[in-house]
Amino acid sequence: MSSGGQASRNFQYMWILRGGSTRSVEFNLIPYLTDKTLLPLLEVTDDQTVLAFAGRLTSNFREVFVDVPRYLLDRSNKFQEALRELLRAYPDPVDFLVTLKSWMNWPPLPSSGSSPFIPVASSHGNVVSPDYSDQIIMVRSLSGQFSPIAVRVAVPQLTITNIASTNNSYTSLLQQLPRNSYVLLDVPVISGYVPVAALNIREMSLRARQMGHKVFVLNAFDPFPTGHNFGPYFAFENQLEGFGDFATEPRIPLEGGGGYSTSIIKYYDHERFRIEEFRGNGYQDAENRLTASTIWQHQSSHRSNCRACLEVEHSNYQVSPAYWKQFRIEHYITCIVNDTQNLYGTVTSGPDLDPIGQDIIIRGSQTG
Ligand SMILES: [Zn+2]
Repeated sequence: MSSGGQASRNFQYMWILRGGSTRSVEFNLIPYLTDKTLLPLLEVTDDQTVLAFAGRLTSNFREVFVDVPRYLLDRSNKFQEALRELLRAYPDPVDFLVTLKSWMNWPPLPSSGSSPFIPVASSHGNVVSPDYSDQIIMVRSLSGQFSPIAVRVAVPQLTITNIASTNNSYTSLLQQLPRNSYVLLDVPVISGYVPVAALNIREMSLRARQMGHKVFVLNAFDPFPTGHNFGPYFAFENQLEGFGDFATEPRIPLEGGGGYSTSIIKYYDHERFRIEEFRGNGYQDAENRLTASTIWQHQSSHRSNCRACLEVEHSNYQVSPAYWKQFRIEHYITCIVNDTQNLYGTVTSGPDLDPIGQDIIIRGSQTG
């Protein structure tokens, strides 16, 4: 292995999913994800389904990160009520994480002796000038009981070195962390904030890496048709351990869906790092538009390794919204662990990896 900027030629992908219902698309998808390098981060939204999710995840993957996502209390969404109930029973998320550990009775991993359960210290969501004191308190309580641990911190929407309180708070947090912790830099909103996010990720990841921590960037992907996936670019440019996101699901899950008459298939374009939409009068019509498109014709080599795409190619698809949600998520994760991982091994710089992303950052810096 060479040193410095050339050291890393791969990344780990962190899939963030919520433990809602065991009838959910995410729960059913877990057995289909066979890439063992995936790192799932389970956001626990209630204590009824957590054992089923955690059990299925640990039987498929080596390690599971577990977070109690208190930021979901800040805006209305379909998980809010169940999460409130969980926090009434366990006002301190650390108590819940310790209880879950004893419920699961996870044995240490044979190779390293560390636990496959990595607790995440996170917080509410002041995203403009965050303060990390909640995480500092959680880290103190978790350190005696878990190793390793992870902290999930909001990347500020202002330049961190210009906000003394946030900057100092971040320094204190890093000092409290046991060596070899995970620092998850969570981007609250990426569209419109790309240049400041780029600066902050560089600054925050550099400081965390210097102290021996593993750094991931989370949610640098706006999964809407106008958005861009900056995760691979930021991870490459800053030599991070990897990146993660909700695999094309929105960060804030809305309450029940409305009655759309248009059926929309969302297809991730791994070459342009963005979502393309195919709209139809019913899913069969939308599927026809997808498979007749230039992008589908052009990306035939991807399909030989994508179970979801092969099923569509062989017309074994269904016309339910749940089917196309699973298609969207599974296709995205397959693109990341196959196509983007392969591309990573052949490029030497972020701009080489993702010239469109580089261009958006430069243009944003000039106008902002
Ligand atoms: Zn695919």
